[in-house]
Amino acid sequence: HPDMAKRSGEVIRTLLRHGHEAYWVGGCVRDEYMGRPVHDMDIATSARPEITAALFPKVIPTGMQHGTVTVMHEGEAFEVTTYRTETGYDDHRRPSEVTFVTDIEEDLQRRDFTMNAMARGLDGAWVDPYGGRRDIEARRIRCVGDPRLRFQEDGLRMVRCIRFASVLGFAIAPGTWRAIKSEQKTLRWIAMERIRIEMDKVMAGPHPRRGLALFVRSGLYDHMKVPFPYTGHEEAWMRAIDHVDSLRLDVRWALLLLGCGLASAAADPLLRAWTFSNKDREAICAILRFQEFWLRLKDEGRSQDRLAWIRLVLDFGGGVAASWLTMQHALTAAGAEETADTAKLDDWLQQMVVYSLKELNVTGNELLSALEKRGGPWLGELLNQLLMQVAAGIVPNDKSALIDEARRVVIHEEG
Ligand code: ATP
Ligand code: MG
Repeated sequence: HPDMAKRSGEVIRTLLRHGHEAYWVGGCVRDEYMGRPVHDMDIATSARPEITAALFPKVIPTGMQHGTVTVMHEGEAFEVTTYRTETGYDDHRRPSEVTFVTDIEEDLQRRDFTMNAMARGLDGAWVDPYGGRRDIEARRIRCVGDPRLRFQEDGLRMVRCIRFASVLGFAIAPGTWRAIKSEQKTLRWIAMERIRIEMDKVMAGPHPRRGLALFVRSGLYDHMKVPFPYTGHEEAWMRAIDHVDSLRLDVRWALLLLGCGLASAAADPLLRAWTFSNKDREAICAILRFQEFWLRLKDEGRSQDRLAWIRLVLDFGGGVAASWLTMQHALTAAGAEETADTAKLDDWLQQMVVYSLKELNVTGNELLSALEKRGGPWLGELLNQLLMQVAAGIVPNDKSALIDEARRVVIHEEG
């Protein structure tokens, strides 16, 4: 475990030197064993939080009462958490009582899945009381302890289970799967935001459709406060999700929404309720709206009309147009029946000289003084007309040419 040791070994070593136990635990141990990139390196220790806090020069008291201290070391943050057990999940979300303990195995017992309930020492020693490595080898997700009780304690675990199954391409152990189906109701106690964060991970993973299918088949969908009208049909929109780069989450979500038959007007409040950030919601809805305008163009028989396309791009911005094209490419790759001629539209997009008024080499004020006229709504119209001309390559983007063209337009209109 060279990377983990290099980045956070010093934190563990310091705890050991002072006579405490300390291990890497949770996701980092799992990911390292699987040869996946390790992100947050969580550390479990027998030391009480106030003792941990006193041992390091730079700490953030993240959740002292739960035992968590964030240690800053060489610019990275590491969560160091005191061994603890949890009890009294009266709200099906979080424990009402946390008790610090002295045995790592007791701490591992509170963790959700066997693959997440392993600890690794600085010397390479394993603490793996539930057969996490064996389950990873078998590519299966299994609860620690009685799955039904574990899901009753915290309903989010069911969503995490499906997220891991989808992201890792693992199976769900039969008992664990049965428990999700019987305990699905506990999902209603879980905040939408926490579910959405897991859904985002599913959508960003390599098998989003599998995750979605598991959500539906498990019955979890029926208990979400804001479900998607997801039908689970294997149609092109859904298949296309797999053809979109995982970094383009906005395009993936847009495909899912379109695959559910949602228009932008319906998608917007849905994404709000799903607690998407304004930025993400707007990016996704812009793609849906672009699609709606494109369909209108097509209906009007103007899908081959370069100027109409340029107008559309200028109305939405080059970024939205590019996202929409990414989506269309994916649809083509997925074998969708009616797709746009993306190669040509892409060319037209690339050939545009400008994409917005900011890039136009003349300002409203310059036009006013050149034309010796007073401002008014006509000015905005004129600027947009010039923008269109420049974007289409009809007028060059330089000041004198633009002012000449403006004069021509104004004289033409006044005459
Ligand atoms: P990721 O790769 O998404 O970070 P992770 O397993 O590290 O996956 P975290 O949310 O970072 O997930 O949690 C760290 C560890 O805390 C988990 O590996 C698991 O041991 C434990 N854990 C997290 N959430 C729960 C939960 N809801 N119930 C029980 N244990 C949990
Ligand atoms: Mg983690």
